[in-house]
Amino acid sequence: MRAIRRGDTGPAVHEIRSILVGLDLLDAPADLYDDATETAVRAFQQSRGIGVDGVVDAETWQALDGARWTLGDRTLFHSVPAALAGEDVRALQERLMEMGYDTGRTDGIYGARTARAVAQFQREVGLTPDGSCGPHTMHALRRLGRKVVGGRPQWLREAEAFRQSGPNLMGKTIVIDPGHGGPSDLGVVVPDGPLRWTEADLAFDLAARLEGRLAAAGMRVHLTRGPAPAEPMTGAQRAELANNLGADLLISLHLDGHDNPAADGVATYHYGTGNGLTSTVGERLANLVQREIVVRTGMRDCRIHAKTWELLRLTRMPAVRVDFGYLTSPVERDRLVNPLFREQLVEAILAAVQRMYYPVEQDVPTGSIDVRKLRMVLAQS
Ligand SMILES: [Zn+2]
Repeated sequence: MRAIRRGDTGPAVHEIRSILVGLDLLDAPADLYDDATETAVRAFQQSRGIGVDGVVDAETWQALDGARWTLGDRTLFHSVPAALAGEDVRALQERLMEMGYDTGRTDGIYGARTARAVAQFQREVGLTPDGSCGPHTMHALRRLGRKVVGGRPQWLREAEAFRQSGPNLMGKTIVIDPGHGGPSDLGVVVPDGPLRWTEADLAFDLAARLEGRLAAAGMRVHLTRGPAPAEPMTGAQRAELANNLGADLLISLHLDGHDNPAADGVATYHYGTGNGLTSTVGERLANLVQREIVVRTGMRDCRIHAKTWELLRLTRMPAVRVDFGYLTSPVERDRLVNPLFREQLVEAILAAVQRMYYPVEQDVPTGSIDVRKLRMVLAQS
């Protein structure tokens, strides 16, 4: 094509200006290639790494032409020998890169490597891995949105399976895992006059309260152990039990202890290696649980952490472990041994579980769910 530059007029200029308007680089389309148009072309060239001369030659035209496409406008595929190119391809490559797929350079060209990355993504979310990006693949990408970043593709499947299970608590299976248990595994033990408080007993009490509340909300609830098991259970045994039940969620309940009586606060753990590989759904549940507890009780926020513990690693559903404060802190112990306070903790968990199943866009502020009204709302939905 003939290069188009400042001073030119005509339909070609009109088209160039229209594209620049679409890119927010220019105010209005017109037939004259004026100073403002040249400035816009220069800005465009700079953003695309093309030689900045303010002239629309073949290379600049090709880039402008590609810039008309936004992701989702057309089906993308690996076309041979003339590869599809455009802003939509670049946007797709960036999205895939964010999610941990190798698309090579984000050059806006739908080559073999991009097609391979798309096929891998499709396989992970359960679509036919044909390597082309049509409406179904776009739909899956949009749904996962920006929630899934920097993770390993296998977690996409977990996120997708969770989403497909629907927004209602009714009929979902949740496993509550009271930590420790049995005469040889009491967890943290703190004497109190002639009595003693044990982590195993308090964890079971919390589990039993939670069981009642979750069942009332329509969930199928299973506890991993009774109040006084004969034998201690390993993390692997607890995970296996939850896997065999096909549970949708698992929440493990613990209390903490420390030699220093000043140590206090609540912490929540989800599966992850700490170097970026993480269960995104588990992390979300951990976040919700942690924030609901902190907001509702004012306990010190010891944050959420990624761990590779057996229970978190071997479970095939989103799983978290909560350490509800330090039994060794006199202040926190006073609260923990109060059934009313434990009821507050249970309400926080219930709110977090409910929020897990709200679509992200319908989520509500932390601490705002009145769990007493939950059942009523559920009955109406
Ligand atoms: Zn424990």
